[in-house]
Amino acid sequence: MMELAPHSMPKNTGWIEVIAGCMFSGKTEELIRRLRRAQIAKQNVKIFKPKIDKRYAESFIVSHSEQSLPSVIIDDIKDVLKYSGDAHVIGIDEAQFFNADIVEICNNLANEGKRVIVAGLDQDYRGIPFEPMPQLLAIAEYITKTLAICVVCGNPADKTQRKTTSSERVIVGAADIYEARCRKCHYIPKEN
Ligand code: ZN
Repeated sequence: MMELAPHSMPKNTGWIEVIAGCMFSGKTEELIRRLRRAQIAKQNVKIFKPKIDKRYAESFIVSHSEQSLPSVIIDDIKDVLKYSGDAHVIGIDEAQFFNADIVEICNNLANEGKRVIVAGLDQDYRGIPFEPMPQLLAIAEYITKTLAICVVCGNPADKTQRKTTSSERVIVGAADIYEARCRKCHYIPKEN
């Protein structure tokens, strides 16, 4: 892991933290860890995730290792403004499934003094940057890249290998369809 969450929290200002990586790299676990610590510190925390992510429990964010936190499911990233209320800390999971409006919304929330923590896939199954993650990485004060372990060779892995031949950019699934691979072992599946 390169840069972590702020060691000493900034005072009298908001900021943006981005947790980016491939599947099975622990992004959601890291998001849950930070949000739990904020809750222990008696901060009002609100968590959002896109409607597309139906892999697990409906109104929770759940990591592959089955840690969970209650979350609000939204269709449109603008709904964060509607439901964030007086929250001090805003968590957003699966950010790659929101549109480009997320960039301005995160900036506005941080400008209002909130701590915004965003987790998402930074590359699609072809290894191509997955918008709007590149834009979020550019405006964040703190960036964490989580690495998985390559299932082929055991090296640190930052690519998501799709095990099907579909060329749709988004297919929701877990270990049945995807696995983590390093640069050397990752390949783009041939389309049918
Ligand atoms: Zn490998």
